[in-house]
Amino acid sequence: MAADLEAEVQAIDKSLLECSAEEIAVKWLQANDLQKEVYQHLAYYVPKIYCRGPNPAPQREDMLAQHVLLGPMEWYLCGEDPAFGFPKLEQANKPSHLCGRVFKVGEPTYSCRDCAVDPTCVLCMECFLGSIHREHRYRMTTSGGGGFCDCGDTEAWKEGPYCQKHELNTSETAEEEDPLVHLPEDMVARAYNIFAIAFKYAVDILTWEKENELPGLEMIEKSDTYYCMLFNDEVHTYEQVIYTLQKAVNCTQKEAIGFATTVDRDGRRSVRYGDFQYCDQAKSVIVRNTSRQTKPLKVQVMHSSIVAHQSFGLKLLTWLGSVIGYSDGLRRILCQVGLQEGPDGENSSLVDKLMLYDSKLWKGARNVYHQLFMSSLLMDLKYKKLFAIRFARNYERLQSDFMKDDHDREFSIADLSIQIFTVPSLARMLITEENLMTTIIKTFMDHLRHRDIQGRFQFERYTALQAFKFRRVQSLILDLKYVLISKPTEWSDDLRRKFLEGFDAFLELLKCMQGMDPITRQVGQHIEMEPEWEAAFTLQMKLTLVISMMQDWCALDEKVLIEAYKKCLTVLMQCHSGFTDGEQPIVLSMCGHSVETIRYCVSQEKVSIHLPVSRLLAGLHVLLSKTEVAYKFPELLPLSELSPPMLIEHPLRCLVLCAQVHAGMWRRNGFSLVNQDVVQQNNTLIEEMLYLIIMIVGERFSPGIGQVNATDEIKREIIHQLSIRPMAHSELVKALPEDENRETGMESVIEEVACFKKPGLTGRGLYELKPECAKNFNLYFYHFSRAEQSKAEEAQRKLRRQNREDTALPPPALPPFCPLFASLVNILQSDVMLCIMGTILQWAVEHNGYAWSESMLQRVLHLIGMALQEEKQHLENLSEENVVTFTFTQKISKPGEAPNNTPSILAMLETLQNAPHLEVHKDMIRWILKTFNAIKKLRESSSSSPVAETEGNIMEESSRDKDKAERKRKAEIARLRREKIMAQMSEMQRHFINENKELFQQTLEELDTSASGVHENSPVISDAKLTALGPEQTRVAEPRQVVMCILCQEEQEVKVDSRAMVLAAFIQRSTVLSKNRNKITPDPEKYDPLFMHPDLSCGTHTGSCGHIMHAHCWQRYFDAVQAKEQRRQQRLRVHTSYDVENGEFLCPLCECLSNTVIPLLPPPRVLFNRLDFSGQSNLTQWIKTVSQQVKALQLLRNEDCASHSGHSEKMDQLQLPEGFRPDFKLKNPYSESIKEMLTTFGTATYKVGLKVHPNEEDPRVPIMCWGSCAYTIQTIERILADEDKPLFGHLPCRQDDCLTSLTRFAAAHWTVSSLSAVQGHFCTLLASLVPNEKNGNLPCILDIDMFHLLVSLVLSFPAIHCQDFSGVSLGTGDLHLFHLVTMAHIIQILLTSSTEENGMDQENTNSEEEVAVLTLYKFLCQCTGSALKEISSGWHLWRNLKAGIMPFLRCSALFFHYLNGVPAPSEIQVNGANQFEHLCSYLSLPNNLTCLFQENSEILNTLIESWCSNNEVKRYLEGKRHAISYARESNKLIDLPDDYSCLINQASNFSCPKSGGDKSRAPTLCLVCGTMLCSQSYCCQTELEGEDVGACTAHTYTCGSGVGIFLRVRECQVLFLAGKTKGCFYPPPYLDDYGETDQGLRRGNPLHLCKERFKKIQKLWQQHSITEEIGHAQEANQTLVGIDWQHL
Ligand SMILES: [Zn+2]
Ligand SMILES: [Zn+2]
Ligand SMILES: [Zn+2]
Ligand SMILES: [Zn+2]
Ligand SMILES: [Zn+2]
Ligand SMILES: [Zn+2]
Ligand SMILES: [Zn+2]
Repeated sequence: MAADLEAEVQAIDKSLLECSAEEIAVKWLQANDLQKEVYQHLAYYVPKIYCRGPNPAPQREDMLAQHVLLGPMEWYLCGEDPAFGFPKLEQANKPSHLCGRVFKVGEPTYSCRDCAVDPTCVLCMECFLGSIHREHRYRMTTSGGGGFCDCGDTEAWKEGPYCQKHELNTSETAEEEDPLVHLPEDMVARAYNIFAIAFKYAVDILTWEKENELPGLEMIEKSDTYYCMLFNDEVHTYEQVIYTLQKAVNCTQKEAIGFATTVDRDGRRSVRYGDFQYCDQAKSVIVRNTSRQTKPLKVQVMHSSIVAHQSFGLKLLTWLGSVIGYSDGLRRILCQVGLQEGPDGENSSLVDKLMLYDSKLWKGARNVYHQLFMSSLLMDLKYKKLFAIRFARNYERLQSDFMKDDHDREFSIADLSIQIFTVPSLARMLITEENLMTTIIKTFMDHLRHRDIQGRFQFERYTALQAFKFRRVQSLILDLKYVLISKPTEWSDDLRRKFLEGFDAFLELLKCMQGMDPITRQVGQHIEMEPEWEAAFTLQMKLTLVISMMQDWCALDEKVLIEAYKKCLTVLMQCHSGFTDGEQPIVLSMCGHSVETIRYCVSQEKVSIHLPVSRLLAGLHVLLSKTEVAYKFPELLPLSELSPPMLIEHPLRCLVLCAQVHAGMWRRNGFSLVNQDVVQQNNTLIEEMLYLIIMIVGERFSPGIGQVNATDEIKREIIHQLSIRPMAHSELVKALPEDENRETGMESVIEEVACFKKPGLTGRGLYELKPECAKNFNLYFYHFSRAEQSKAEEAQRKLRRQNREDTALPPPALPPFCPLFASLVNILQSDVMLCIMGTILQWAVEHNGYAWSESMLQRVLHLIGMALQEEKQHLENLSEENVVTFTFTQKISKPGEAPNNTPSILAMLETLQNAPHLEVHKDMIRWILKTFNAIKKLRESSSSSPVAETEGNIMEESSRDKDKAERKRKAEIARLRREKIMAQMSEMQRHFINENKELFQQTLEELDTSASGVHENSPVISDAKLTALGPEQTRVAEPRQVVMCILCQEEQEVKVDSRAMVLAAFIQRSTVLSKNRNKITPDPEKYDPLFMHPDLSCGTHTGSCGHIMHAHCWQRYFDAVQAKEQRRQQRLRVHTSYDVENGEFLCPLCECLSNTVIPLLPPPRVLFNRLDFSGQSNLTQWIKTVSQQVKALQLLRNEDCASHSGHSEKMDQLQLPEGFRPDFKLKNPYSESIKEMLTTFGTATYKVGLKVHPNEEDPRVPIMCWGSCAYTIQTIERILADEDKPLFGHLPCRQDDCLTSLTRFAAAHWTVSSLSAVQGHFCTLLASLVPNEKNGNLPCILDIDMFHLLVSLVLSFPAIHCQDFSGVSLGTGDLHLFHLVTMAHIIQILLTSSTEENGMDQENTNSEEEVAVLTLYKFLCQCTGSALKEISSGWHLWRNLKAGIMPFLRCSALFFHYLNGVPAPSEIQVNGANQFEHLCSYLSLPNNLTCLFQENSEILNTLIESWCSNNEVKRYLEGKRHAISYARESNKLIDLPDDYSCLINQASNFSCPKSGGDKSRAPTLCLVCGTMLCSQSYCCQTELEGEDVGACTAHTYTCGSGVGIFLRVRECQVLFLAGKTKGCFYPPPYLDDYGETDQGLRRGNPLHLCKERFKKIQKLWQQHSITEEIGHAQEANQTLVGIDWQHL
């Protein structure tokens, strides 16, 4: 980039560079007509800088603009060098105490739930961290861009408006002070001049509409070049634009993507540069190509000078924004300039001009000037007000423009309303002075023009365009909400008048909604198209909150409330005047009462569910009920004007409609009545009516209706939600009603009614209802849906049964009504009600004769219960002077009168109590009778009013009760005794466990750990010394291994010559252990994997679920899967979670993702260890022998190549070492089936590990097998070490089995590969430590992973040894190889040791080991020519060596354990002391490792010298290259911050690396390496293996060899990816205080890192289980399979 810029600079016109800002400024200072001078300057230079070709060069343009154009302005403004002038200004400035930081997209914002005046008040992260709100309840969100920090705005916060940073300034600055006093006078004048000119220039050019002329600027150079400018719209998709551009301007896809990205970001981009015709041609192609379905893309051919000036105009606005940042005085001047009215009067100020031109501007330009408005007008207290007035006056026009605008609201000036209207003082000022409420409502109504004959809104035949417009109109409701959001604390007469005026307008609006969109039940014919209902419904929903806010306002002032009530009543009367037109009232009679009503058949005539006026009036009525007037002088209220029929009629119709819907009468809007059960319908209607009465009488928990407060209301809501089941915090919040501040008020009461249970490693925290709250449960709670009601009923009954209580769910005792509603309770004891109750009970008694339902009876019982509760309370609260008027018990004791002579309600209940068909309700009936008696007693004791004589059977009842009570008491005693015994027993049990704690612990652990580990232990005598390898190897009889096939359930023994048994396995490439993630992957076809580099940058991991099958059963299964998959793909074209073509399948038992199988084998070494003359050759001799054999083989091979003749001849010449028979061919001991499986698994390892096509002949196959064995052991060793678990006995079975078969397989694989290839590998491997003349150019010992080398050497050695008949045992070879590699590793460690002598306290011991290692080190220094750092402390060296070699020894112990089957000594099955010594003993090593060198000094000195003389080693010692040092630290996932907002902040500062500083839309963090990526976006797609992939997928290929773990920061979601087609989302490790994750960041509760959950993710990664996890997720949720993971 820098080089590009230099080249550009050189190409620049010299005259531009020679411009002197100072000289120009001086000229301007002397000018008479400054504007003319400046314009001339701009006219000349702007086109020279800005339009220089097809592509913009922002860096050069910015540089030149600063130098030639802005520089002079700054000089002029400051009157001196701005480098001094601006800092001076800044110093002199008394800065604002407002923060005003404008939010970037995705930046975190905070709102305090305790102190923010409304949820739109937010703080930036810095201010938040320095504020008192940190300790409060806060919400965190990510900004959508735009908007600014409200820190310092006293109107925004009830408390703590300033953060620490912005508080400092408040004491000094008086609010009213004019900031201009801090500026020198001459500067004020200059600022006016230059601001006026610059601002005007920018506004003129941006709003300029002529094509070939410029505002006041002559075109100096009339070179006629043009741009074809493409504009953004919200209609066309990215793909459409890209496709069209490729066609129209003949560009590549990449360029087209570039254009489209810029158009989307900036709002416009030139796509062609040249003469007019050339550009016009492109324009017509674009228009033609995009005009087919929708309106065409906007394209304009523009003169290049205009484009140049517009670019500079924008630059100038940005410049103004930054200059005013230096001084509040300058800011004020700019505000003044902007709002100054021009010569054309109203709307002629620059600010007005821009606002009114807004919808015609492109996105980029809007953004720039909106930002300027925010940093100027909205930051100046005085001008904020003036600007608010301009905004309000233009409101109607701005909104109309917005309706037609093709951009979303966030890009429209209309969106600024949130910044203005939510300021309480401004909102109130605008209401009183500008009549804003009325304006908003009128504007809203103007945009909904379609009305029916009655003047109501009509949404019939609703087109897509209207729907689009309707969505926009809704934003006006939002504005109204903003204006109302903060309620007045004081009322002026003006405010009252204007509010009521607005209220009038609002009523007009509601009037248009009252009764809109009526529906008629359709009978007999099927309706093809549902009539449009959504629009009207949406409108009502959106207005609900506004209605309640209006009510809140009214509630604050009694005068306003009464006025509003009257107005509302008047409007309601207007709405329904004449609702009885043409109808004769009819008279209904019942129980001696009669009433006049209108006949209206809801099931036949029109009904509307939209009754907002009725709702508003009802709400106001409740408010009135709360006022003092209502208590003291109800006659002052306009209650006399209420006409019940008018009030009730329409809501009642609506309720009837609802009841009919429940009864199924409106199903399919009337589709055929034939199948409907009329009896059933009638029953439901009766049930619904009873339910309605329950609600009318029982729902008193709104302040004003009942004598309750808001806390009681919310408590009741919570109790009923938790009665259904325990709930997580978020579920509960969702179920509770929210106020306009999105608050439920739940926190303040939750602890009184619920207990919180914390979550475990999965799941979430739950609230449980406190047992004592169950008595408040009301089965007919009006916020229950049908489903919730029945769930709650079931749950509550179950709970009672568990507590051994009766299952009656009686109505709870209710709070008393407010006086205005007090008479409602009389419904319960009215004659009609009693008659209804009696009738239904009668039906139940004679249950065969009538159509009735149990629900009916249940509701009647509930109503009776309510009446009893009511009466009981009346009696309990009885004061001296009052008479109890509620006499329900008396009324139900009376039998019906003649002629019917029906039994009393009470008598019928008595009868029903024993009815066998009503078992469920028995408990409830008993409760009623019991309560009845209790009330009777109460009455007797108060005895102020004599009670009517009751029937005798009640007395019997009470004796029966006594009986029952006695039984209950006895049962209780029995229960207590039982409990006591139980408690004693469990105490004894605990005691026992305590005493035998260790025993229990052991059993538990044994259950935990591998079964095979346990049984291998059994044959060993515990005090014998166990040795894993070498001639001293402990001999153990391998137990017979009999396994069962999961497919055919047949058992079989694992033997060399039987049919193969296999384990399902999954092989994958892995970078989990990588110490170098930037390594470029070599060409797989040529790559030689023989030596693993110690950076372990890419390994091959093998895992298994441990499930065993016959090889042939598996093959049959796999063939079936393959065939099925082929059929499925043809039929459905869907993918599965596994890739069959790549050999993947799911384990038939556990559905674990697998891609091959490992054969099970008996221990392979036993087969080849023919001879054993223990300890007959030492290392030196052995190396000599083997070297001779190697040499012989190499010579033979060379001869083989050179000529095929005279083979035997040469053999003789060679002088073969004694007993070596290179022509000996070993007979393969394995059965055909096992051999086949050896090849299968070997080839799979090769294919996956190298990412190549399978080729079983390739000599690299055995190498990959050894490598996978070594790598898998290393990963397991790391996991055990990281978890601080002992090496043996703690692996899960499946891993233990996997390692056993993997190691045995790797040891047996040479028998199916080419013998000479394996021999060749051994020779090369050995040559890396024991050099010979044939193998040059091998990696130096610093560049070899010694454990991989050990495994490969040991496992390839049998290929040589099988031809050796000299009598040396295989075990001897293993031991020597192991010792040799161990010594090489020691040298490796000492060479790379970064021992610091200081810093660590040295123990003064001078042990044998320390002396020896120091001697060895000195020898090394000698060999390296003293290039090694001098170290004199043996203690440090020995410590370092032990730590460095430990992982190697642990891996080796695992390896030889699995290879030879020698059980591990019990000491390394626990974490005890002296692990090192025990390991050495198991591995046949001296505790003092350096003894190895002393014992074999003869050959070792030579070897060490040869290792050290390697060129690479020298370069390393000279500091010219890097090398891995030991012990390698375990890889972990990156550290995550505790507070999630830190990540949000980090992500918001991250910009797309490919599109020039643009913010990334989906910033995604790699949890493996910490790279932030721009995911899911065109800009960062790259090509991978011929396919376009997103940034994440591309990253996984370098960072995780195809596997990736990411955190999508905006979504707060973990993403797992594997390959291009596999992926899943995973819950993030961040939880809120309620133990819940917040995927999608919807709730905004503060989130903190849950370390345990993060560890779980890390463990999945370390265990290589990510792919498996994805597989399981995809199997569980098929929609995941369809996602284009590769584009993330
Ligand atoms: Zn701030
Ligand atoms: Zn602040
Ligand atoms: Zn607060
Ligand atoms: Zn089988
Ligand atoms: Zn399985
Ligand atoms: Zn990008
Ligand atoms: Zn990464």
